[in-house]
Amino acid sequence: MELINGKELAKKIRGELKLEVKNLRKNGIIPKLAVIMVGNDKASEVYVRNKSKACNEIGIEFEEFLMDSNIKQEELINLIKTLNNRKDVNGILLQSPIPEHLNIREAFDAIDYKKDVDGFNPINIGKLAIGEDAFISCTPFGVIKMLEEYNIPIEGKRAVIIGRSNIVGKPLIQCLLNKNATVTICHSKTKNIEKITKEADILIAALGKPKFVKKNMVKENAVVIDVGINRNEAGKLVGDVDFDNVSKKASYITPVPGGVGPMTIAMLMNNVVKATKQSNLG
Ligand code: NAP
Repeated sequence: MELINGKELAKKIRGELKLEVKNLRKNGIIPKLAVIMVGNDKASEVYVRNKSKACNEIGIEFEEFLMDSNIKQEELINLIKTLNNRKDVNGILLQSPIPEHLNIREAFDAIDYKKDVDGFNPINIGKLAIGEDAFISCTPFGVIKMLEEYNIPIEGKRAVIIGRSNIVGKPLIQCLLNKNATVTICHSKTKNIEKITKEADILIAALGKPKFVKKNMVKENAVVIDVGINRNEAGKLVGDVDFDNVSKKASYITPVPGGVGPMTIAMLMNNVVKATKQSNLG
């Protein structure tokens, strides 16, 4: 079994991006990410802090907009429109969740697709679906990057995803399909899930259930990617895969923490640099 070290790979990607940003800055181009956070969700605060740290390391400017949880939908949309029009802002990220009285879909739709570094705008989702260049949502993008960097063949392989969320499972279908995998997606209504997961050459767990994927659900020598981030009773971070047992059967496996998580932020940084280059260099 080989461990897919997302932490190391993300560090390498951030190092490459840092050099790219240095060159952009030499030409007077300064990438900037604007992050909107509504309310004070504790987990979001940690995520935003980590994004800010990564920007800082790479040389991307970071501007944070902390909005009161009582903000009206119109105010949120107006802020997004202002950022869409600001020439110095290359990427816009709306940190989820946002309070329930707000319509997050409408907010994502309002972000200019050229600055949509999270890849949640329908234009980017559509472009990905038809195989055009697009901003790909960062977690699925990170998963594909891991497979590529470890030279794990995707073409012709049977890939099974557990979880069909808009931010992970669904974009992963397109990413894997574009790489010529045969893709199956499972969800909470799927019957006999282990029969399907056992056929997977590449199994991706993204359902948010601690240690859901057991050894008996995995084919010998499968590649197992664990997107899940859960806290167990002891408060420790655990994935959706029963790592200790599944790792005995897998050919490659990602750990939690240190797997997909750091890759998500690295790919966000990648998308900000890409947006900056596209808006300045064409
Ligand atoms: P989500 O929106 O809650 O979606 C969960 C998906 O899993 C749904 O499609 C659900 O099916 C499916 N599901 C739930 N229970 C199931 C079961 N018993 N069997 C089969 N499918 C089941 O979750 P998400 O936002 O995609 O996140 C999933 C996990 O990834 C979470 O642990 C989250 O923290 C983690 N995550 C990690 C990163 C990262 O950077 N590493 C990024 C994003 C998310 P239905 O559609 O039928 O309800």
